[in-house]
Amino acid sequence: MTAALELLAAVHQGDRRALAKAITLVESTRAEDRAASRELLSGLGSGEANALRIGVTGVPGAGKSTLIDALGLCAIQSGRRVAVLAVDPSSRDSGGSVLGDKTRMTRLTAEAQAFVRPSPTSGVLGGTARRTREAIALCEAAGYDVIFVETVGVGQSEERVASMVDSVLLLLLAGAGDDISSMKRGVLEAADVIAFNKADGAGLAPAQADAAALRASLGISRAHTAPEVLLVSALEGSGTDELWQALEAHQAKLGSSGQLAERRRAQRRDWFDAAVDDVLRDLLAQPDALAQRESSERAVMAGQAAPYDAAERFVGALFARRH
Ligand code: GDP
Repeated sequence: MTAALELLAAVHQGDRRALAKAITLVESTRAEDRAASRELLSGLGSGEANALRIGVTGVPGAGKSTLIDALGLCAIQSGRRVAVLAVDPSSRDSGGSVLGDKTRMTRLTAEAQAFVRPSPTSGVLGGTARRTREAIALCEAAGYDVIFVETVGVGQSEERVASMVDSVLLLLLAGAGDDISSMKRGVLEAADVIAFNKADGAGLAPAQADAAALRASLGISRAHTAPEVLLVSALEGSGTDELWQALEAHQAKLGSSGQLAERRRAQRRDWFDAAVDDVLRDLLAQPDALAQRESSERAVMAGQAAPYDAAERFVGALFARRH
């Protein structure tokens, strides 16, 4: 058995270290990891797992990780196994990352039934790690049946995350009224459940007021599909059971209405599209392809070939050689 298949077998047995290693492998951009990564992904097959996939989005400081820590425990109490994939745009350049901070999700991290992984982003807009879909699939293969995908709300990331998960939980803070009204429509529209966090102490009354205002405005714009708007305190734990139930109820509703199957189909289509881009990018990055491309480029620059003719010949030769 190859190393990649051995790793996959360990993942299937629920080995957390193997899972972490497998995610690192599929996230790797190193050319020497590509073959093993592909083998691992092929080994995963096309089977459907039935995890509850939840995207959690909100501005930095909204309390996403504190809340996932609390929600994760609710899920574990109801007999689930929980994986958290944290997607952090700030780690792109710094190397260091707030998500790498060991103090995050301390309770969940200590649970045998949980897997918490910070995931570096590699140059993808919106801070979605380039292999989040693959990481989700690996977590499912390891038997996790609730997957949280945490992302910092920076506009586009919500839509990307929405294409990978079943439910999007948008975390808001009271007093951010202007932010909400200026929020891209897509952000609110992608949300399936909305929660105002830090509804505790002096924060409770403003959260109640903002939640009521948002409910009213969503009721007008999205009469039939308006998401639930809840109040929570991730820190104190109030409202988190109800929020967890709302997320489960949302998934159940999606399931019974046939929308879940539809979303999963769309997720798979988007995954395929991303895979096509990836395969093409790999093909173009092969040393012989690079050399061929440079020589075509030189011919075009010297005026010896027309750009489109040269491009067609180059791409045609590339495919002919591969197949
Ligand atoms: P993230 O950046 O969205 O992941 O936010 P964090 O979970 O790291 O939380 C940011 C800060 O808000 C931390 O200092 C938390 O302790 C605090 N915080 C999170 N949830 C609550 C809450 O429900 N109430 C209060 N008062 N503070 C909270």
